[in-house]
Amino acid sequence: MLKNILNKFELNKGDIITLLQAKDENEINLIFQKADEVRKKYCGNEVHLRGIIEFSNYCEQNCLYCGLRKDNSSLERYRMTIDEILQTAEKIYEAGIKTIVLQSGEDITCTGNEIAEIIRLIKNEFDVAITLSLGERDYEDYKLWKKAGADRYLLKHETANPKLYSIYHLGQMLQDRIQHLLYLKSLGYQIGSGNIVGLPNQTLEDIAGDILLCKQLDVDMASFSPFIPSPDSPYRKQKRCDVNFILLVMAIARIVLKNVHIPATTALATLDPEGREKGLRAGANVIMPNFTPAPYKEKYSIYANKKTDDNIMHYVIEAAASEGRIISETKGQSLKLSTEVTQNE
Ligand code: SF4
Repeated sequence: MLKNILNKFELNKGDIITLLQAKDENEINLIFQKADEVRKKYCGNEVHLRGIIEFSNYCEQNCLYCGLRKDNSSLERYRMTIDEILQTAEKIYEAGIKTIVLQSGEDITCTGNEIAEIIRLIKNEFDVAITLSLGERDYEDYKLWKKAGADRYLLKHETANPKLYSIYHLGQMLQDRIQHLLYLKSLGYQIGSGNIVGLPNQTLEDIAGDILLCKQLDVDMASFSPFIPSPDSPYRKQKRCDVNFILLVMAIARIVLKNVHIPATTALATLDPEGREKGLRAGANVIMPNFTPAPYKEKYSIYANKKTDDNIMHYVIEAAASEGRIISETKGQSLKLSTEVTQNE
């Protein structure tokens, strides 16, 4: 039964749920083997690095699972200056990384024009791709940032179950989040989405729906990160995601989604000291080293004890090498583009 599913090219929801239910060690090994084959075939042996700058931890939202939520008054808020952002971008570039991820909470006090200026300054100075991860903003802002040189946008749908979406996001609607992803796609961004695995009341059917929504949206990158409770959120007492389960979800996502970038997330490295290596073995082909400088990085506390290695490049290079993988020297554009060249290069 399981072998038959793994031999199929297109998997349906029932197939994915069956794989998610795998408990037997041999069966689980077969799934990981298949994920590794698919990763090799569609992504090769390269590991793409994305250097993250978490430039602001202000957020207008109150997502129930997140430590940056607006109502968390115990968190000291920060916003990096343009000079600090540029200095950090330079460090990323000097480390040989060709993608810079500008990440923040939904900080509406950072205007569209200010963000556009940061994008322009980075693009003028360094030969890099830029990914934005700034939450939901106006269509006009997305347009402005694309014109300024942004290449990609990461906006996770978090859960494809509309009821759970509205619970986690206090009445907000899944369809609006999907509409934002469609706006971004229509503007020419490479888009990334994904979920959090292990959120309260989430079922295997929901997780299968998350993987299939990534497929339906034809995303360029899909991120599946484990839920780790934040002590400063209403979900502080909820159970964290099991590391073996998130690895299984990643492996199944690789089998289903094939030619998309899948990261071994920082949250995975937080759950398990060998999380990056295990993630690479479970179908991942991307690592996103965090370059947010002190004293800010400790304050970007989405969840508890987030891993913040000082010598991050050392760990990342070691992780890739230990799995026999090579660090890419390209910008790691979408695997769906026929060449490395895009409009902004
Ligand atoms: S998940 Fe994002 S939008 Fe929600 S509270 Fe956290 S930072 Fe804000």
